[in-house]
Amino acid sequence: MKKFAMWSMIVLLCVILTGCGKCEHEYDNGVITKEPTCTEEGEKTFTCSLCEETKIESVVKKPHTYKEEITKEPTFEEEGERTFTCKDCDDSYTESIPVRDDEVVVTVTDKSNLPKDINAGRYSDIINLTFDVLNRSDKVIKGIQGNLSICDLFGEEILKVSCDFTGNSIPVGESITIDDLGMEINQFMDSHVKFYNTDFSDLQFKYEVTNIVYDDGSSMKEQSSTESIEGQKVIVTVDDKQNLDINYNVGRYSPRVEFVFGVYNNTSKDIKGVQGTLTIKDLFGVDIMSLGLDFTGQTIPANSSVVFDDLGFDINQFMDDHVKVYSTNLEDLQFEYEVTSIVYTDGTTE
Ligand SMILES: [Zn+2]
Ligand SMILES: [Zn+2]
Repeated sequence: MKKFAMWSMIVLLCVILTGCGKCEHEYDNGVITKEPTCTEEGEKTFTCSLCEETKIESVVKKPHTYKEEITKEPTFEEEGERTFTCKDCDDSYTESIPVRDDEVVVTVTDKSNLPKDINAGRYSDIINLTFDVLNRSDKVIKGIQGNLSICDLFGEEILKVSCDFTGNSIPVGESITIDDLGMEINQFMDSHVKFYNTDFSDLQFKYEVTNIVYDDGSSMKEQSSTESIEGQKVIVTVDDKQNLDINYNVGRYSPRVEFVFGVYNNTSKDIKGVQGTLTIKDLFGVDIMSLGLDFTGQTIPANSSVVFDDLGFDINQFMDDHVKVYSTNLEDLQFEYEVTSIVYTDGTTE
């Protein structure tokens, strides 16, 4: 009898202590009572089928959902950066993007010295360099802008000159030879003289690309956007360029460049004359020269255009900007016309 009482006591104690007659709960599979997020753990609640006692277990955090964005484009010199930001919280981290692979490889393959020869029209010593230009990009290249460093055998820079390649298109994966780039030597400049007098085999060359213009019109560097046509009263386009050689028979004592202009009157009044400035730029958007240019002698009817085809200028062969305009193809030039004054047929002026 005593034994029984003791057993009863133990069972009773057990019931009191655990709240469950069997001493062991039987929990269900649990339900999520708090969804985890990427910053906080969740909760799962299990309920005992015998006594309804519950217990809570934590649920691991959800992974971050990262959105990827290039926050700094890599250049040829500097690494870029890619930033990953969680779209649910602000957690973020960055990864670096390696320096851009050179899209072009420029190699100098030869140097030749042409001594001054007045009979041949050479008024100073000239160095001619031969280049091999390889296009490693996936687009046809129309022009390359860059700087050429010329160093001595010890890597010491003698001279740095700007050096652009235009006038040739370079097919994808192919290289072209350019041998018509010369440099006039100024005999009063030590660096020029040193470059002239040093053998090709004792020179090192380094070409640094600053911009590439592709055949599809895109470029490595975005060019300063040209003003929108909207709101302009007169829109001038250059439709053709013609180079005229010296011809004494017709009284042309210097070469001449002539352009065919299309002048569009974007106003509702007929225009009698336009005064303005034409800026001629190279393929990379760099100004070559500006000159005053007026359109008169023909009425430009409201909302229509007129062609002016006898306007040009004489080339001074001693002026680099003139020579550059003369020797550059029309498709490698860019034009900007800035109107300074408009005279209408009704006598009003703007
Ligand atoms: Zn229970
Ligand atoms: Zn997150």
